[in-house]
Amino acid sequence: IPQELTGLVLEHLREIPDFPEPGVLFRDITPLLADGPAFSRLVEGLADHYRGRVDAVAGLESRGFILAAPLAVALGTGMLTVRKGGKLPGPVIGADYALEYGTARMELRPESVEPGSRVLVIDDVLATGGTAAASISLLEQAGARVDDVCMLLELAALGGRAQLAGRRLASVVVF
Ligand code: AMP
Repeated sequence: IPQELTGLVLEHLREIPDFPEPGVLFRDITPLLADGPAFSRLVEGLADHYRGRVDAVAGLESRGFILAAPLAVALGTGMLTVRKGGKLPGPVIGADYALEYGTARMELRPESVEPGSRVLVIDDVLATGGTAAASISLLEQAGARVDDVCMLLELAALGGRAQLAGRRLASVVVF
């Protein structure tokens, strides 16, 4: 990932303590999205990095969608939506995973995946890695090859990278 993109994301990031609950430092990418030239440079930079290496881009609901859609267009590929439970009309496959309190679920329409295709997974923040790991398992169940994962921000202390063993993880900013 070009160094220029790291600076770009850092300059347009907002950090909100104790949101959405006490103890969480929320990393907000909306200032980056709101800056037209910065958003465009980010998408172009990521497209230069992945051009010719992937056949589709999978966004993880919700903020992954915002990144995956323009990246897929820039790459000339399709975009896949890995969604939170109960949002996609069937037939879907689903994976449950543990949160600090309770569980969450991601779902995928397996027919949206071309068997054997190289799918890039993208999201805004890698924290514990639970969301990404569940999403990758669904994509692979549907026949995709997931060798590449891209995160705007990686919160290294939460250990998400360990959940992505064997894949190339490109994090634009690592905290
Ligand atoms: P995890 O499954 O723990 O890796 O959490 C990843 C998901 O939660 C991503 O889709 C993020 O959008 C969101 N997330 C987790 N921690 C934060 C944070 N500190 N700031 C913003 N979003 C976060």
